[in-house]
Amino acid sequence: MKTTLNTQLNADLHCHSVVSDGTLTPEVLAPRAKANGVELWSLTDHDEIGGQDRALAAARALSMPYLTGTEISVTFAGHTVHIVGLGFDHHNSNLTQGLRQTRGGREERAREMSDGLAKVGIHGAYEGALKFAGNPELISRTHFARFLVESAVCQDTSEVFRRFLTENKPGFVPHRWASLKEAVQWITQAQGIAVIAHPARYRFTPNEEYALFTEFKNHGGQAVEVVTGSHTAAEAQRYASTALEFGLAASRGSDFHSPDESHTDLGSLPFLPSKLTPVWALLADRIQ
Ligand code: AMP
Ligand code: MN
Ligand code: MN
Ligand code: MN
Repeated sequence: MKTTLNTQLNADLHCHSVVSDGTLTPEVLAPRAKANGVELWSLTDHDEIGGQDRALAAARALSMPYLTGTEISVTFAGHTVHIVGLGFDHHNSNLTQGLRQTRGGREERAREMSDGLAKVGIHGAYEGALKFAGNPELISRTHFARFLVESAVCQDTSEVFRRFLTENKPGFVPHRWASLKEAVQWITQAQGIAVIAHPARYRFTPNEEYALFTEFKNHGGQAVEVVTGSHTAAEAQRYASTALEFGLAASRGSDFHSPDESHTDLGSLPFLPSKLTPVWALLADRIQ
């Protein structure tokens, strides 16, 4: 392990495998990360830690330092927010039960999404999406998007989201995920650190965003993603200021899902601004 845990580290602490909505296995992601120069890696599947032992073993075989990870779906002020957890004990029973509960509503939601799509003439979407889901418990909008691309209804997954899978579109079903408090507490009680994922992606008013950061901190959250595949350079700058304002550490991650769909590959982001405290400086004793 590198002894310098400063901002100039090629850490990639956000990506997805077939255990959620990525298209690569943990065993294929690890060498891809290594080849791209990643010096500290975490696999953060949505609402699921079933890939952690595989990712850790694959990282170990490459002598690539690893942190356990997940990305929990949360409902806050009527919007979906993602909270990344890093460096937790992945055998902690509160965390595993909480994640199982969070995954719980996905099948019913997927069936309702399929019913909505059937009303606009797209049939068999549930079965079609399920074929793309490596983990049926984690059937997600991404799998529906892949099915609609395969069926030539749309050219790419962004078009599917725009036309069918976002608010007020035929395949969108509002859903209640975990609460912010629950997600932060599951992570921190398992000795991990909670991180607000890609804050620029949410459509909050300034007041709602302020409430998100304030409540997150009050529940024990300690970090925010600043440099991510979901942020522009200007957004990274903006959330660097937010991190300083709220006294939060900063994280960095590509949010890589697939070579065909993701524009940011593993390990290919700019470094964190050097004025920030990197989240890995708080996690030195959790790196495996
Ligand atoms: P779900 O958890 O089922 O609501 O699915 C959310 C996932 O859909 C996210 O984690 C992204 O991988 C993907 N996603 C969300 N919005 C978009 C978009 N506009 N374009 C492509 N993928 C998206
Ligand atoms: Mn995803
Ligand atoms: Mn996310
Ligand atoms: Mn993600």
